[in-house]
Amino acid sequence: MPTHLSRRDFVAAALSTAALSPLLARAYSDEVPSVSTPPWRDQAVENLTKSPHAKLRNIPVHAVTIKEGFWSPRRKINVTRSIPTMHDLLEANGRMNNFRRLAGKSNAEQHGPVFSDSDIYKWTEAVGFALQSGDLQDLRPTVDKMIGEVIAVQEPSGYLNTYYVEDRKSLRMTPQTQTTGHEIYNIGHMLQGAIAYYRGTGDRRLLDAGIRFVDDFLLPNYGLAPKQPIVSGHPEIEMGLIELYRITGDKRQLDLAGYILQGDERVKLPEHRTIYMYSGTPFTARTKLEGHAVRAMYACCGATDYYLETGDQTYWKTLNTLWDDLTKHQMYISGGVGARSDGEAFGDAYELPNARAYGESCAAIGNMMWNWRMLAATGEAKYTDVIERALYNGINSGMSLDGTLYCYRNPLAFDPSTGDKIRNPWYDVTCCPPNLERTLASLPGYFYSTSNDGLYVHLYDNSDLDWHLEDGTGLKLSQKSNYPWNGNVELAVTPDRPTDFVIHLRIPGWADRAQVAVNGKPITGARSGEYLPLQRKWSSGDKITLQMEMPVQVLEANYHVEDNNGRVAVQRGPLLYCLEEVDQSNVALSDVAMDLGKDPSARFQTERRSDLLGGVLVLRLEGVALERSTSELSLYSRYSGASVKTRRVPLTMIPYYAWANRNATSMQVWTPVARPS
Ligand SMILES: [Zn+2]
Repeated sequence: MPTHLSRRDFVAAALSTAALSPLLARAYSDEVPSVSTPPWRDQAVENLTKSPHAKLRNIPVHAVTIKEGFWSPRRKINVTRSIPTMHDLLEANGRMNNFRRLAGKSNAEQHGPVFSDSDIYKWTEAVGFALQSGDLQDLRPTVDKMIGEVIAVQEPSGYLNTYYVEDRKSLRMTPQTQTTGHEIYNIGHMLQGAIAYYRGTGDRRLLDAGIRFVDDFLLPNYGLAPKQPIVSGHPEIEMGLIELYRITGDKRQLDLAGYILQGDERVKLPEHRTIYMYSGTPFTARTKLEGHAVRAMYACCGATDYYLETGDQTYWKTLNTLWDDLTKHQMYISGGVGARSDGEAFGDAYELPNARAYGESCAAIGNMMWNWRMLAATGEAKYTDVIERALYNGINSGMSLDGTLYCYRNPLAFDPSTGDKIRNPWYDVTCCPPNLERTLASLPGYFYSTSNDGLYVHLYDNSDLDWHLEDGTGLKLSQKSNYPWNGNVELAVTPDRPTDFVIHLRIPGWADRAQVAVNGKPITGARSGEYLPLQRKWSSGDKITLQMEMPVQVLEANYHVEDNNGRVAVQRGPLLYCLEEVDQSNVALSDVAMDLGKDPSARFQTERRSDLLGGVLVLRLEGVALERSTSELSLYSRYSGASVKTRRVPLTMIPYYAWANRNATSMQVWTPVARPS
């Protein structure tokens, strides 16, 4: 396939694909395991049971119980505080009254931006995932009622939107509205919310409303000529359509996603718009990440889903090109993406400012979701490394420890004197809070996957798996670990009966030294950044031990990253660390440097502080503080050549995810290194 498919070629290819679809269906069916679609409760975050090009398949959220450990307090707060208080805020800010007004049950004015419906849908998705874990049963009647209120205002045509109504009705689906109005973006979130709720409850009402929008409103009227064109102003519906296809098996929904990913040349858009929207031109013509970061990440998610279903190598080539761009030029050390506030956008290669970093919570989540799909396609641990980096750092920082305040931006340096209030309970553009909530609620679904030959272990925390291999053999697996505070993990394997299969054990990219043993017998071959395949006839009582040394690691950035020249960042295991001024004694962060000597790791001491920030391991080291001369207060002064006066200061570092949970204080991830004078 050519790298750049012209639209004419694409149309021809789409038509010939349609003509050949019975043939293709047969060809696919040879590759697909002969499994039926699982019942609703077993369909997982993504239902890849029939996806021909998925190497790994998701395990349902309910099959993994996360026990007391690192993630459990975050997940408890999510269901006891975050999701319930977000419900109240959505109500207080008129998001549900937008629906009720159209049913004559509220006199309130329309409230919120054009994408306000998506706030309800994304929050519903969070509840749907929580219900899959058995949480939030008390909230179910409330959500059931809300769903009734939403679907009550769906029009007979299938159209459903609370903004393009009444005086704005004539603006529906016009090319201009499609680029800025978020109509189908809202429906993308509706589909995802509906699917998660269906998988948590079996309740199809919202799902069926989503199908009506797609089947009755979109498919008959929009698509290739002579239908009206679609442009995805904010990619999102592509993922929703493909997950819907995985339920219905209706290939028109998959094809519609493919058509949207390619753009429609009848919609004439200036280049800056197609860059910003990361849509409107063929996805397969993209060569780099640019434009609005969340849009780009969601487009990559949708495109990977499209690849998982079609195996289209043109997509795969583009996805790999973009992934290389992500990891070589565009990703923050926190796993966050999106350097610029202006346009919430990617910057140029290596443009990764710290204080001005945008790093929207949604973009880090999009990064994790994209890498989850790339992992499903390949089983390669380099994608899990990105997932872990984003999850523990740039995503986890997005929600306060008490679960009620959220970051929209996640900068890597912060100065409170700018007046920027970094954590807030509510944003009128409230995309990030429910996005964080749905991510924490769905987390059990990211711990493991199955493959044709066995099981993949991706994430480490105290947890129980109760599921089965792809051949139906029941399998329980119990993890015991203090990860990420130390690198020791014990896994007890309990298959229904002695069974030969492979457990692919993840050795994280940061783990330079990892030792694996099965029933006490050492296993060789563990390499960082790979899955170690452990094949044997597994029996009840078998134990795997994984011991990863977890020294403090000091990292530097590529010299092209200007902000980080002469500076280092510190991580331990998967956790990125930072300095917050409140932890230092009488010194401004702008004056400190780290004294690292020749063996940087050896300079750090660790201390477990159960009383601090929900329980963290802090790092301590000796640093130096510059004594500024008065002449340095001038904007410019004569270079004296004199050595800089310094004094020794103790420095204390906390995990980056926990920053900004105390009084507003300066923070920095990248700190200068003191050079010997
Ligand atoms: Zn957001």
